[in-house]
Amino acid sequence: MQDENRIEQNKKLKTWAYYKRFLELYYADPFFRECFEENAAEALKNSNLVLDSETAKQAIKLQLNAAASDPAQNEYTLLFRNLMDSLHERVDRRADLDKIKDERYAHWVRSQRSRIGFQSFHARMHMRSYFISACFELADGCSGNCPFCCLDAKSLSGVFRYTPKNQLLWQEILHNTREVLGEIAGSSICYFGTEPFDNPDYEKFITDSRGILDVFPQTTTVASVRNVSRTKKLIELLGKEALYDAALRFSVVSLEQLKNIYKYFSIEDLACIEIALNNPESLYSYSFSGRARNLKGRYPDKAFEEKTSCVCVNGFVVNMLRKDISLVTAYPPDVEYPLGMRVYETCTFENAEEYGSVLHYLIEKWMPVDLPGNRLIKIELPFDFENNYLTFHGDCVKRVISGCDSLFRVLERLRDKPETVENVLSNAELRNCSELYIREKLQLLYDLGYIVLAG
Ligand code: SF4
Repeated sequence: MQDENRIEQNKKLKTWAYYKRFLELYYADPFFRECFEENAAEALKNSNLVLDSETAKQAIKLQLNAAASDPAQNEYTLLFRNLMDSLHERVDRRADLDKIKDERYAHWVRSQRSRIGFQSFHARMHMRSYFISACFELADGCSGNCPFCCLDAKSLSGVFRYTPKNQLLWQEILHNTREVLGEIAGSSICYFGTEPFDNPDYEKFITDSRGILDVFPQTTTVASVRNVSRTKKLIELLGKEALYDAALRFSVVSLEQLKNIYKYFSIEDLACIEIALNNPESLYSYSFSGRARNLKGRYPDKAFEEKTSCVCVNGFVVNMLRKDISLVTAYPPDVEYPLGMRVYETCTFENAEEYGSVLHYLIEKWMPVDLPGNRLIKIELPFDFENNYLTFHGDCVKRVISGCDSLFRVLERLRDKPETVENVLSNAELRNCSELYIREKLQLLYDLGYIVLAG
């Protein structure tokens, strides 16, 4: 019976590997798409994909219209859905907000996620992407030079080597991160505006993460074929379990690079490695942030997500070389936040003890659970008022809350410029409502992330 199960599992994994490759080709390569539309069986055969052409044709239709279709109708989409469900379950477990030790940080993350989901339809559909608590940059700058880089990363200028002194600092920092943030620290990754393989010691750093935070941090690399033997060793180091947990992703900037990946890694090798298809011809969109803002005219067929950030950290970006920490959250990219993120504050540290103190300081300063009366606050979402109801407008969504004319006028003042609650209330003429009522409503909007601390 066990043997039968294993055979069945292996069969499924093989079919998955072929279907995954098919999806990659379909989404990334217009030539493959055209051939497939013309003669599906021939296109699959030419790419050595052992799939049933009629099932694949139906599957791609369902996949492209995912919101309106039932994946159970098709063997391949059902397989895709089941694998995604189990992956999402694992990610959700790692990102469970109950794993946050500090109630203030948990409240802040909840509010940010509520705001992000309200401001972007795409983010709302992929809310579990916004789960990373800390990003550790192990270099200054990046050699990737990707034309679409949403963080507009500057050129590589140095790396944080795994010297005995740095090893000690790194291990203490991981311990302190876990101590302050709690188990959620296991969701952290070791890159942000950096390329993991730029650091010759990257594997040593993530091995420490595995030891101290219990999981290998997810690696996304654009340099998968820069040094193939190194990439293969990383795959070996991560092992099957971590790969099933989506521990490795290859970012692709061109069709040529995708073909090279296929040349050096087998279909089976890639079964559990996500390929992020960032080549200009792919059907996927770019977040309209960073350098991608300059590409709109150059790639007329490309879709640009104007309301979606590609920043998935709700917490801390730590640069180990410069020794600084920034508190960061995602925002729709615009003139104020061209990189699709708001940086609340950046502080420096000299050693692991100071690092821990800075984490405490940033939480204390920017994450009070109760809306403080004496801090500047602002409201950034559009809203209107009618018949004692306030309507807030998000991306393809509205939220209506009961209100009154006085509350509306208070919010209008905050829309014009940041003010403190105390100042607004001392200047407000409250009609038919109490100060307590206004304070409670402001707290509600603060909990939802619609009102934020401005300074
Ligand atoms: S997208 Fe990533 S790898 Fe590419 S330049 Fe930006 S930070 Fe570097």
